[in-house]
Amino acid sequence: MDTVSLSGKELAAAINADTKARAAALTEDAAAPRLALIVANDDPASAWYVNSLRKAAERLGIACDTVDLGADATVAAIRAELSARGEDRGTDAIMLQTPLPAGVTLDDVSSAIVATKDVDGVSPLSLGLLAAGLDGFVPATSEAVVELLDHHEIPLAGRHVAVVGRSNIVGKPLAQLLLAKDATVTVCHSRTADLAAVTAAADVVVAAAGRIGLISGKHIREDAVVIDVGTNEAPDGKIVGDVEADSVRGKAAGLSPVPGGVGPVTTALLMRHVVTAAETSRQN
Ligand code: NDP
Repeated sequence: MDTVSLSGKELAAAINADTKARAAALTEDAAAPRLALIVANDDPASAWYVNSLRKAAERLGIACDTVDLGADATVAAIRAELSARGEDRGTDAIMLQTPLPAGVTLDDVSSAIVATKDVDGVSPLSLGLLAAGLDGFVPATSEAVVELLDHHEIPLAGRHVAVVGRSNIVGKPLAQLLLAKDATVTVCHSRTADLAAVTAAADVVVAAAGRIGLISGKHIREDAVVIDVGTNEAPDGKIVGDVEADSVRGKAAGLSPVPGGVGPVTTALLMRHVVTAAETSRQN
């Protein structure tokens, strides 16, 4: 069977066109929406991502401050910066870049991000609102998976989705979003006893483990839809997903590419959240 490539580029372009218009309206009214990107690492992959976010913001008319706290920043220093940005009326949105310094976890600092500016939905309050089915910012990557499926008209209600990965920023929030779409959701992780048996029973498989080639043809059933969230650096320096595309192509009904699948939609949604945060704060 022909496997459809579930590209995210067209969807990202449509979201970006809307965001750009909304950012222009905000700028005309008062000032450009402003995102604070807080960095506390010297990781090259993170630097690359921060740079791509800055460029995306610039293209859309969003102002972006990068605050580099250094790779040895303490929990107190990171929390203090997040709180200060939360109180700063000129900052509409806050994003904390990972990885964090050795010995600092996201749980140590994320509660210092005020929920109204938490555009990547990482604070405990944002995650709690999502679990309760209440309004708040949702982690952009998880939202991107659901939007990508929706864009390609892949139904979710009543269907079995296997999510591989249970992190607080991808797997768990994604499971909540899929439940809200009436899917039947199984969340897999490194202790799942027979991963292939679980994923091969699913209509839709979402790979979000950060392991190159974890999901191959034997992990999916004929006609399944496969979404690859993985963003891993291969030994040759290329960015590759969690899915062994060669063995999945020809068996799956659809597969999202890496790069060009979930990634561009994630960035587009983050920027949409920045504009939403600015619109909301300026109405108040
Ligand atoms: P984490 O490392 O925080 O979590 C990985 C999850 O995968 C864990 O729950 C882990 O299980 C599970 N896992 C690891 N190995 C296996 C295995 N062999 N079998 C089954 N499950 C396994 O990663 P993130 O959630 O932050 O990111 C996941 C991937 O998504 C990464 O490649 C990341 O780069 C990518 N990503 C992509 C984004 C995008 O925009 N496209 C944005 C954010 C992330 P356990 O809990 O038991 O350890």
